[in-house]
Amino acid sequence: MRHTRAHTANRRSHHALKAPTLAVCSNCGAKHRPHHMCLECGFYKGRMVVDMTAKKKARADRMQAKKEAIKAQAGELDQSAEETATEAAKVAEETKKTEENK
Ligand SMILES: [Zn+2]
Repeated sequence: MRHTRAHTANRRSHHALKAPTLAVCSNCGAKHRPHHMCLECGFYKGRMVVDMTAKKKARADRMQAKKEAIKAQAGELDQSAEETATEAAKVAEETKKTEENK
């Protein structure tokens, strides 16, 4: 059944999004969810719960290792491409020689 515009607007008056309430970290001053650990420094209620500096370092190391692995793989691909090119050149030379012999 069709609703009036007012009826639709009244229903939608509750659809607005609210900004999340955030608390300020007592250790580093960053904003974090209330009753949750600070994601910047890993403190909760004035004590360290998770060593976030170690976690961030571990993550950076992981990303670096991944980048290096990708680079190494790309280097291998380039080498294999060169190898196939040289092989193709060799085959071409051999076919030339055999043609000359004929
Ligand atoms: Zn903090």
